[in-house]
Amino acid sequence: MTYPNIQLHIDGKWRGSHSGKTIAVINPATEETIGTVAHADRADLDEALAAADKGFRAWRAIAPFERAKVMRKAAALMRERAAAIAPLLTMEQGKTLAEATIETNLSADVIEWFAEEGKRAYGRIIPARGPGIYQLAVKEPVGPVAAFTPWNFPINQVVRKLSAALASGCSIIVKAPEETPAAPSELIRAFVDAGVPAGVVNLVYGVPAEISEYLIPHPVIRKISFTGSTNVGKQLSALAGMHMKRATMELGGHAPVIVFDDADVDAAAQILVGAKYRNAGQVCISPTRFMIQENVYEKFIEKFVAGTKAIKVGNGLDKDSRMGSLANPRRVAAIEEMVQDAVGKGAKVAAGGSRIGNKGYFFEPTVVTDVPKSARAMSEEPFGPLALISSFAKFDDAAEEANRLPFGLASYAFTSSTKTATAIGAAIEAGMVSINSFGLALPETPFGGIKDSGYGSEGGTEAMEAYFNTKFITQTGV
Ligand code: NAD
Repeated sequence: MTYPNIQLHIDGKWRGSHSGKTIAVINPATEETIGTVAHADRADLDEALAAADKGFRAWRAIAPFERAKVMRKAAALMRERAAAIAPLLTMEQGKTLAEATIETNLSADVIEWFAEEGKRAYGRIIPARGPGIYQLAVKEPVGPVAAFTPWNFPINQVVRKLSAALASGCSIIVKAPEETPAAPSELIRAFVDAGVPAGVVNLVYGVPAEISEYLIPHPVIRKISFTGSTNVGKQLSALAGMHMKRATMELGGHAPVIVFDDADVDAAAQILVGAKYRNAGQVCISPTRFMIQENVYEKFIEKFVAGTKAIKVGNGLDKDSRMGSLANPRRVAAIEEMVQDAVGKGAKVAAGGSRIGNKGYFFEPTVVTDVPKSARAMSEEPFGPLALISSFAKFDDAAEEANRLPFGLASYAFTSSTKTATAIGAAIEAGMVSINSFGLALPETPFGGIKDSGYGSEGGTEAMEAYFNTKFITQTGV
């Protein structure tokens, strides 16, 4: 399987950057350079901005019903091409081929859902105070969007923003991840091949900070959407605020998992092993801070550790790998440091704990128990294959620990009591609570955080709302 050299897509054309500069793409499982990605400079960005401005005018004039036809065709192309796209995603990101295939196919579901939702973006008629008066609340697309997306789900992080933008009539410039550029480029290709007019969808790569600092203040851009770390999100939302730009921020998390002693512990452990090591834990909604009620603490650890040790780690392209490499060396170093720090403060390693081999960014699926709150990993997002397990006595203790951090993205609870389920759903400060399952991230359901995890939604009707302005028109007959 050969990996292509990745180009920019600006104003309907695939091309290199004007400067000819490129960035190397590394396979994280082998550390080999597998290709290059074009590096956009100011001149390329200026062309993308002009194209997005022109594209917005063309696309908003097309009826939602017709836009949906183009989008559905793009969805069909993603499904048709999944077998060719998924290996590229594995080669550049490290996740298993099975996960890469799911991500590629799921993008088609996201596109279709938003395409249909665009048809139903109704406004409102507000009853007037006198005869012959119509009061209309009309939804209009906000305008050209700049989207900044990370490397953990190279397709999924783009498709949510792209689909909501296009369904609402906006154009977009996507700044996709330089470390994993091929998969998002294939997503853009599906839209281009489906017949999206030139300028509506533009794709750039380069130095993230240079691109965001230029695009966000630019008058053409009317909305930004960012997925990534809380630190960067705060900088970008501050910049957006300075220039009065609408913003959606999907940032870091540190998801609490609470297992009450009346839960089905076997089922909880099985679900959580699957959720924890998906994408090697490089997931913003990954379960991280496990709180297990005292009576079932030992039993849960036994089951969870057994599940963890059964995971076969290897090159994502190998059929029997259940977890691939991490996406970059930064994550390996971060997880290693977090484990060492926790152990130094008294935690015990119950599974894994080390890098694997000396080629590729592999790290063992790792379980650390009896972790003191002073351990760094209990406050910083691990973003890797690390489960931190502690015990709790009472409901209030678990709720307090769940809410201790400034994050508020995903959270999980397991219990067989409806009363406890209702109480914990209400008590946790998070944008999402999943009880007795891993039930998050469907296109039709809200997806987003509160507190330092950001604002806005990347799923459900809430996601569409972020791409609309409401215009009020009052019209009196003459
Ligand atoms: P990072 O904070 O440097 O980058 C995170 C993402 O933001 C990357 O995609 C990067 O290209 C982008 N970025 C960085 N600076 C930017 C800027 N000034 N303008 C625009 N985009 C910018 O760190 P990293 O090493 O790539 O990732 C580490 C941390 O990022 C993780 O620990 C995790 O907390 C967070 N992260 C979160 C998600 C998510 O899904 N919410 C995804 C990837 C990374």
